[in-house]
Amino acid sequence: MSHKPVAPGAPVISAHYSEIALKGKNRGMFQRKLRDNMMTAMAGEPVASCNHIESRFLVRMSDPEATERVADKLGRVFGLQWLSISETMPRTEDHDADIARLREVAVTLTHRDAGAAKNFMVKTRRSDRGFPLDSPTLSARVGEAVHKQFGLPVHLKDPDFIIHVLVLKEEILVFTRKMRGAGGLPFGVSGKLLVLLSGGIDSPVAAWMMMKRGCRPHFIHFYAGRNIHEADIGKIERLAQGLARWSAKPLTVHMVPVYPYEVRAVGVVDDSHDMVLFRRFMVKTAERMAYRRKCHALVTGDSVGQVASQTLPNLRAISPDVTLPILRPLVGLDKIEITDLSRRIGVFETSIEPYRDCCSIRSPKPELNARPETLEMLSEKIDLMAAVTEAITTSVKIKIGVNGRIED
Ligand code: ATP
Ligand code: MG
Repeated sequence: MSHKPVAPGAPVISAHYSEIALKGKNRGMFQRKLRDNMMTAMAGEPVASCNHIESRFLVRMSDPEATERVADKLGRVFGLQWLSISETMPRTEDHDADIARLREVAVTLTHRDAGAAKNFMVKTRRSDRGFPLDSPTLSARVGEAVHKQFGLPVHLKDPDFIIHVLVLKEEILVFTRKMRGAGGLPFGVSGKLLVLLSGGIDSPVAAWMMMKRGCRPHFIHFYAGRNIHEADIGKIERLAQGLARWSAKPLTVHMVPVYPYEVRAVGVVDDSHDMVLFRRFMVKTAERMAYRRKCHALVTGDSVGQVASQTLPNLRAISPDVTLPILRPLVGLDKIEITDLSRRIGVFETSIEPYRDCCSIRSPKPELNARPETLEMLSEKIDLMAAVTEAITTSVKIKIGVNGRIED
């Protein structure tokens, strides 16, 4: 990070959080984590400073050209509710002159940003109470200049266009556009979990939803083929890379062969139970890996009734003895809602690339109503736990960052 002086009047990014402000005793820790994650997201950018002022961070660039790009990156930092790019004007001893300049800035911004707005309002907040005008009076003075210039009426209820004014000790910020932040809690404050990542649309969205709740995900992917060299895992790497853009840390993916299950199941497990028993193999293997990696929960992209293996009886039969919580953040969403999220996250195009998933090669007509006892019996018969052990010992760990695979 460079420390060149900030050009006067250079735009400032103000980044607001809200939920974490509520977190009582943990507040300091949450704020520190959020700031660290912001700095990670902005690594390599010409950031001059990032200061915490009244439930917001003010980020200044040494090169104003980078402002939009940095704001875009901060839009993927969990814990930030919204962002704006603000014009700044330094305060002087002469309040009247300051107000006159503020009115000019507001007129300029209205000219630039108001578009087809039919009405407007000015919203002022003073973090420096020493300023001689109170907030409503200052709003009125600024609004008067805009009204005079453009003839726009003031609407305090649901205005088309809002000019925000923020009076700080040494400067005044003015902005007109709020950009939606990622929301949620800062990455990493809620602990680790293990996500079962397939090549489809759902599981990356499920991972993102838990990241949004402050969790740090590790991933496990089951691939068709005997060993990693036979597997076509480029798509999985690209999915993880897309998710890494929302992550403060590189992501770890455990690549696990399906082969240990298949050699045991073939010729023994009937077609109708194969898919459900295979799911049990995945979950039991994930459970073992989660304990190894000190993860507190498993995550899947299941949504009730979406496909035959996801009926309630099957979900029950697959994991009666799993001792970690299995989180299913998409359980009540339909495919359209999930697809919308996938696009917003930026992984949809990758998710729909063709991929030979190990589920797609199983029988298309699985049992809808598998019984836990039947799966238990089949598990014994094929020694499913031996398959789990073999799968874990032959698994390969890879690390993925925003630029793709990171070689250890
Ligand atoms: P799709 O968008 O095709 O539905 P999906 O990821 O939901 O993709 P499903 O067949 O519906 O795939 O599987 C349900 C869940 O089981 C997935 O969300 C994922 O958590 C887990 N899963 C399925 N296949 C794999 C796999 N090959 N490796 C790891 N987890 C998997
Ligand atoms: Mg699915």
